[in-house]
Amino acid sequence: METITPAILIVDDVADNRRVLARVLRSLDVRILEAESGPEALALAAQEPELCVVLLDVRMPGMDGYEVAERLRRLSNTTTPALIFMSAVESETYQHYKAYELGAVDFLTKPVSPPVVLGKVRVFLELFRQRRRLEALVKQLDTLNRDLADQTRRLQLTTETSHQIASILDIDQLLAAIVELIQRRFGYDCVGIWLADPPPPDAEHLMLYAGRYWTPHIVKTPSFRIPVDAPKSIIVHVWRTGRPYVANNVAADPYYLPHERLADIRAEVSVPLKLGDSVPIGVLDVQTRSGEPFSTGDILTIETLGNQIAVAIRNAKLYAEVTRLNEDLEAQVDKRTQQLQETLQQLELLERDKSDFIAVVSHELRTPLTLIRGFSQMLLEEPDILSNPSWRRQVEGIANGAFRMQAIVDSMLDVAKLDSRTLKLHHQPVDLPELIEAVTHEMETALQKRNLTLQIQSLNELPKIEADPTELRKVFSELISNAIKFTPDGGQITVTGQQLPSQRPDEEPYIEIVVSDTGIGIAPELQELIFSKFYRAGDVWLHSSGRTKFKGGGPGLGLALARGIVQAHGGHIWAESPGHDELKLPGSKFHVVLPVHRP
Ligand code: ADP
Repeated sequence: METITPAILIVDDVADNRRVLARVLRSLDVRILEAESGPEALALAAQEPELCVVLLDVRMPGMDGYEVAERLRRLSNTTTPALIFMSAVESETYQHYKAYELGAVDFLTKPVSPPVVLGKVRVFLELFRQRRRLEALVKQLDTLNRDLADQTRRLQLTTETSHQIASILDIDQLLAAIVELIQRRFGYDCVGIWLADPPPPDAEHLMLYAGRYWTPHIVKTPSFRIPVDAPKSIIVHVWRTGRPYVANNVAADPYYLPHERLADIRAEVSVPLKLGDSVPIGVLDVQTRSGEPFSTGDILTIETLGNQIAVAIRNAKLYAEVTRLNEDLEAQVDKRTQQLQETLQQLELLERDKSDFIAVVSHELRTPLTLIRGFSQMLLEEPDILSNPSWRRQVEGIANGAFRMQAIVDSMLDVAKLDSRTLKLHHQPVDLPELIEAVTHEMETALQKRNLTLQIQSLNELPKIEADPTELRKVFSELISNAIKFTPDGGQITVTGQQLPSQRPDEEPYIEIVVSDTGIGIAPELQELIFSKFYRAGDVWLHSSGRTKFKGGGPGLGLALARGIVQAHGGHIWAESPGHDELKLPGSKFHVVLPVHRP
């Protein structure tokens, strides 16, 4: 740590005295200086920074020891050495005081005893050495502290810079902002971001995408370029090796590529922009004009910035990609939405056609049907026909067919009324158990024929509701006849009811009736579709085969009509089923929710 040998100065006008002392002190690892007068002693001391002990004779011609001590104290080149006074005469106490006042550490009386001198000087020498060691340590600590402060400042700048870098997602804007930031914050003269073009693995050039070298403004996207096989260029060298490169004296550097407009550049640092072990996407290049070389701290900072820039560029590219994908997606969604809107319009037209068709057909069929029904009834009263079993069967067939047709035409008329919103409801208090009882009564023959059980549960607790009984009857008649139609022989149909609990005290009370069966069930994707007009699952060409035959075909109007009526009452109707399975028979549930009071 410390290499300079400390010095001891002997000041005495008597040469013999000096010689004796010098001999005594020779055993110590010190340089011994001698002076025969005060001025000579001061001159020597002024040039000796490592002076640790002065052995000072008090009585000397011209300048005495006290004055020498006084002046020595004022010398600033050195830490004040330990002063040991020597006096040949029996000294007075006041002389000792005076010596101590002047900074003496000891007072010796001549003739001095060699072991005493040696012992004392050794103590001060050791003290001096320790002080020097301490000073060196303090100096080292100072440097470390300064380095640390410098690192902290750089780290702060790097963190701030990287925060700002990370928040910009447009790549051109990003690169320009990075150049600006690095230059402003770190004070480098020239900064440039060079990207491989086209991107690796097909790179042919390194292109300056954003940089400030010789112009006051930032040169942006893409301008200056260097071929990737250029033999001389620090930027190309760094890109090829994938390692940082420092040229603290560009004039003597083998890779430095001089530029006429950058004649005063002194040092250059380039770091690769890369992610992991992949080929760098480019290089961050920094150059300075000042004579200061790049420190290890500078290089580390530039490397860190390089890594962050690589990540930021990747993010910006990903963002651009995502944005492009989003735009594509939006365009596709727009196109599809437009197609859907067109389809919807077509569907609306079709729906209107359907409604018109129902209205026209049902009206037109009504009169001839009435005639057929009337005449077939009259024929059935004719004795000739009644007495002829064959004729009678045929006329009965006409009458039954006309009756079924009447039911279909009635449904069509109802649907037409619902479509044209001309269905008039005649509200009155309705006793639902009674109404459902009446409906099931009508179905009794069918239930028996098909060996089905129908159970009615907890309907008696239901309050009376305000509704149109004729219309509601159609709803439950439809649901129960469907349950009969889609449940195989021997199955079970259940009708349950409950009053729904209100969520809030001011909420309208509602009741719910559920018609469930143990039939073939309904596929989830059809559970909404079956409520549309003319929808029937299965083969459309199955002819209408009665209201209660297993899987009997129908016109597909029943549920549409039921939903229309329930909604006209301010209620809801929906189907629920685990799925369609003609072997496992998962069954279906139809929920009808109606307000207790007229809405
Ligand atoms: P339809 O008047 O022809 O009976 P609906 O509108 O009443 O027509 O019913 C439409 C379709 O809904 C039926 O063809 C049938 O596929 C299905 N469906 C209705 N009720 C049930 C049920 N309880 N179980 C299984 N499928 C049903």
